[in-house]
Amino acid sequence: MSESQLDEPLSQETFRELWNQLEVPSANVGLENELQIWDNEFSGLELAMEELDNNPLEFPVLPDNPLPYPSSSQAGPATDIHVAAPCTVLATTEYPGPHEFQLQFQQSSTAKSVTCTYSPSLNKLFCQLAKTCPVQVVVASVPPTGTLLRATAVYKKPEHVAEVVKRCPHHERGSETDGPAPPSHLIRVEANSRARYAEDEHTKRQSVIVPYESPQVGSDYTTVLYNFMCNSSCMGGMNRRPILSILTLETPDGHLLGRRCFEVRVCACPGRDRKSEEENLKRQQENSMVKSGGSATKRTIKEVSQATTSPDSRKKKALSDDEVFTLQVRGRERYELMKKLNEALEISELIPTGVIEAYKQQQKHRLKASHKKEKESTEIKNGKKLLVKDERDSD
Ligand SMILES: [Zn+2]
Repeated sequence: MSESQLDEPLSQETFRELWNQLEVPSANVGLENELQIWDNEFSGLELAMEELDNNPLEFPVLPDNPLPYPSSSQAGPATDIHVAAPCTVLATTEYPGPHEFQLQFQQSSTAKSVTCTYSPSLNKLFCQLAKTCPVQVVVASVPPTGTLLRATAVYKKPEHVAEVVKRCPHHERGSETDGPAPPSHLIRVEANSRARYAEDEHTKRQSVIVPYESPQVGSDYTTVLYNFMCNSSCMGGMNRRPILSILTLETPDGHLLGRRCFEVRVCACPGRDRKSEEENLKRQQENSMVKSGGSATKRTIKEVSQATTSPDSRKKKALSDDEVFTLQVRGRERYELMKKLNEALEISELIPTGVIEAYKQQQKHRLKASHKKEKESTEIKNGKKLLVKDERDSD
């Protein structure tokens, strides 16, 4: 009697029992769970669809009269603000003026949790969307009564300066009940009932104005709290284009008393971004030092070349390393080739020697491996390997 014959009736019985008592109910429970999960996922999907319905990603077509726009005294008649008009380019030069107008920022770290931080080396404010950004206004002498402080945003790059900085359509539409600020304005002033929002009749540039207030007793600056109401990355808005904030001190009839500018980046991680941008700047400065022969790496290269070159030619070489040459190349194909070559040389300078050595070793191994494979495959093609195998099998 074989083992399987002995086990058969028993195993059949056991299987039936198991199927009836355990398997089927448990399968049902599993199915119910599955359905529940599907149900949950579906309602999640529904929520997401609803969200998408409310905040579509595409650029919406703007209605003719879209905004409950509180037109301020400076804004002029409520014309169609979305019509593109030729814009005057606002000056971004620093001008302390007769009262030595200056801005200061609170010292802050580059910690992960920070919501607003200013980098003095970059003259750049990094902040989160709609978070409080305190800016300290300093003057050496008291400006005339009625002096105003205006904040305007402009694009930093020359190719974008003509365009008015505004909020993206998504954020603009999402803020119907947002206080006195018009929904399209990027910059707002927080906790100041005297803040006015203006739009220039001709240039359509938007700004926020507060009356200049003298510092409180015992303080030598006045703090204004600004909010930036879009991320720098907002599609249809800033769209990753860097902006500058221009703060101007003005008389009530619009005469300029002073101007200060700083770059602004509105992002999710101000601390992290400030840190990495400051590090980039530092690296750039170090690189330019290397190029001008001020760092240790350069000196090592010089020392190596000392044996083969006279002091005079070395000097010339160091100078020529920094010099920029223009090469005229005939034909697009050849030009692209030269460009690629130049890029490769530039990039290779940035790679540490250790990495290059490791890469070379790796290439050597790869070459060896591929040679071996090639040899094997030719052997198989010639039938040598197959023959050997056949012989062994027949044994
Ligand atoms: Zn936005």
